[in-house]
Amino acid sequence: MYDNIQKQGLAVMWPYPEFRRKQKEVIDIIDRALDKGKIVGLNAPTGFGKTIVVLYSLTRFLEKSPGKKCLYVVRTKNEVRPVLKELALLKSKMPEIKYTFLIAKRDMCFHRLRTNQELWISSEDFIETCKDFRSKNLCPLKRIEIEAYSSITEFLEEAVKKNSCPWYASKYMFDEAYFIIATYPYLFNPFIRQSVFSYNGGVLNLKDVIIVVDEAHNLESVIQSSDRSLSIKTVERALEELEKYSFVISNLDYAHCRDFLLSLLDYMGKYRGARKYIRLNIDYVYGQLVNIVDLDLLGRVSDDIRRAKVEMQGIRARSYLRSVWRFIYYFEISYTLHYEDVGIFALGEKLELKLLNPAIITSLLNESYTAILMSGTLPPLDYLRDVYGLKRDIEYIEIKDVFPPENKRYFCAVDVTTKYKTRTFEMFQKIAYYILFIRTKIPFDYIVLVAYPSYDVMRKVLPIYNNIKEKIGENIIDIIESEDTKIDDVIRMVESAQGGIIIHAVAGGKLTEGIELTRDGKSLIGAVIIAGLPFPEPNDYLEAFLDRMSQLYGKEKGWEYTILIPTIIKVRQAFGRAIRGPSDVASFFILDRRALSKKIIKILNIKPTIVSLPRGKLP
Ligand code: SF4
Repeated sequence: MYDNIQKQGLAVMWPYPEFRRKQKEVIDIIDRALDKGKIVGLNAPTGFGKTIVVLYSLTRFLEKSPGKKCLYVVRTKNEVRPVLKELALLKSKMPEIKYTFLIAKRDMCFHRLRTNQELWISSEDFIETCKDFRSKNLCPLKRIEIEAYSSITEFLEEAVKKNSCPWYASKYMFDEAYFIIATYPYLFNPFIRQSVFSYNGGVLNLKDVIIVVDEAHNLESVIQSSDRSLSIKTVERALEELEKYSFVISNLDYAHCRDFLLSLLDYMGKYRGARKYIRLNIDYVYGQLVNIVDLDLLGRVSDDIRRAKVEMQGIRARSYLRSVWRFIYYFEISYTLHYEDVGIFALGEKLELKLLNPAIITSLLNESYTAILMSGTLPPLDYLRDVYGLKRDIEYIEIKDVFPPENKRYFCAVDVTTKYKTRTFEMFQKIAYYILFIRTKIPFDYIVLVAYPSYDVMRKVLPIYNNIKEKIGENIIDIIESEDTKIDDVIRMVESAQGGIIIHAVAGGKLTEGIELTRDGKSLIGAVIIAGLPFPEPNDYLEAFLDRMSQLYGKEKGWEYTILIPTIIKVRQAFGRAIRGPSDVASFFILDRRALSKKIIKILNIKPTIVSLPRGKLP
């Protein structure tokens, strides 16, 4: 009787004509877990319909739990849209449901939207500017009614039309909303979290909130929200700013800040251009840099300069000195409170303060009413307990296959690997041969997606691949991912290409995690090639993270949490691009003999057929 369940007189209707396989069972399990305040881990593949299942269960729970709300956090603004679409659908069946969303405040600013200007400033800077604007009564802070909407743009346009700041219009809807969708920083960035949560009976009280973490496999994105970095350019600009705005501060304050910035620049200069993470001595940084500056004074001076800039430049203003202060302030807190769980590193032009134990941020999920973590590649239960620091009872739901298993075929090549010691020309050549060989075996109307372990490996394979391809003379179109590739551009290229397409991408990157290539509801990707298992590249950060995890959970678990599980997740994410619906059929190739290790085979849950290149058939 799911189709029309009466709860307190209201119908909670399933918004689709029917349920997909196993959806009803999962709804039941989530219902029971929510009633008991248990945390839920939902590991279900693409196509299962996780979002609607979770929203539906939550609607039923919230319906009978006055005062409770759901904060649904997503990685990026693009991921807000599918959730809004499902909520609009639910609302069409049950008009009582109210929802709202929060993306970066600067992107929801009335002034920015009205003047259509780009703001190249950080969210944290903008939050302070916004405070100034409000204190001067420069903003239309109005409650407005906006009924069902299914896109961010629709809401923003409507709010501006009604002469109201969209960010505040959204925040004023918190009281009535069942669901608040927000990007990760609203939960995981300690500075931004304060703009939503209040622990003293304010806007949202964590203990009344059910938190949904979407794409919860992506720990990197989760902790990125709380890692901090400081670039040499920012410090140089802070010095220029100090000079230019010295008229708003005293000579003594000026001299103190200047000396500090010069020492900081001097120190950062020593590591300029580091190509890989270099771990720095945190005690030295604290003793020789952070401890020599009067943090209160730096905070006050940077705020005075920031205000002066806001007076002159309006919402576009940002203070570089303020960014330096924020970094140092956060460093000091982290050093004093989480000494063993953070590390300071140099990379390129930056210093980065990085978490070595994500639980210091993610364990706040324990303080909520409860939480639901979901993903198509959710890490195992012990990982959630240890790495996320979840201390409550967890209901772990695993849905292995929703589509016919015979639609997937797995292969593994045993004469190749991208293990560091074996990265030779001959090895890359073999990989290139495999890619072309597989391309010739897959019908040309299907795309072949190749996931390399890193840009470095891709750059080494591609020139060899191009040489062989020329000799073969097949009409193969290559789409190659770079650091700034946009998904929309790839979709456009795919639509206009005439020939057999190969997308060359990097495991764990935009194209292997976020792309959906379908036509008439069917996946266009017919094969996925893992061109070497994507074990993380060794660097000081990885080593420090591994050390910390091993200290906390033992050597074996430490290795699993740091190396093995993230690698397997990247492989499964890449595989997940091919099968989007019940009629999709695809072949998966792993060009790395290490995949045959018992542990990897077991976690991947596959039985691959061994393949090798035909002798003498390729040039
Ligand atoms: S309150 Fe003012 S400055 Fe802040 S986001 Fe709204 S319109 Fe922009």
